[in-house]
Order: sequence, then structure tokens, then C-alpha cells
Amino acid sequence: MKRNLVCIICPRGCSLLADITENGVTVTGNACPKGEEYAVNECTNPVRTVTATVRVSNRHNTMASVKTAMPVPKDKMMDVMKALRSTQIEAPVAVGDIVLKEICGSDIIVTKAVL
Ligand code: SF4
Repeated sequence: MKRNLVCIICPRGCSLLADITENGVTVTGNACPKGEEYAVNECTNPVRTVTATVRVSNRHNTMASVKTAMPVPKDKMMDVMKALRSTQIEAPVAVGDIVLKEICGSDIIVTKAVL
């Protein structure tokens, strides 16, 4: 099976062609080794950093922006969002504060302070 991808590792955005066989993934079109690594991961174990907001319970109409500290498997993104939907935090919070621990393999951290 062949798959066309655009490398998202840097702004150059190389067009990649991944040839997927039982022997592995062969990548062409990459201008550097990072593109090959990206394409192989995308074809075998795609991961994403999830960004979202959570409600701040002690501030009127305030949400805090959060993200996964590490990329999580792409098929677990909705599980992360489901966990965040029912999560509330209390201000003050600082950048890097942990909102939830170990959700689908990653902590959820604050990305913007709420005083
Ligand atoms: S293959 Fe290398 S140069 Fe091309 S977009 Fe990816 S990281 Fe950038």
C-alpha cells in the first residue's frame, strides 16, 4: 500500500510517499531523516499532542488552556477530550501545572496562567 503524506516537522513541508509492505515502510521525498521518521511513525503508530480548554470553577466564564505534555496515540484523542470535558480546575494556575495525571499515557498541563 502506498500513502502520500506531508511532513509537518518543519515549515518546508516535504511531500512524502510511504510504501508500506510486510517488510516495513519505505519513505521517499524527505529532505532529511526526520521526514522518514515522521512517515514511519505516521504509518505505524500515529500520535498527536491534544490541545483543549478546561473550566475554571472559581472564575466567572473563564477557561484555562491545556495540552497533553506528550503526544498520545491518535486513536486515544477522544478519550483525552472526554476526560477534559468533565474536568474543572481552580485558579490560580501557572504554566506547566498538572491538571490530570496519566491520561492515555500523558499528563495534561496548563499552557497559559490564570491568576
Ligand atoms: S523531511 Fe525534513 S526538511 Fe522536509 S519537512 Fe520534514 S523535517 Fe522538514
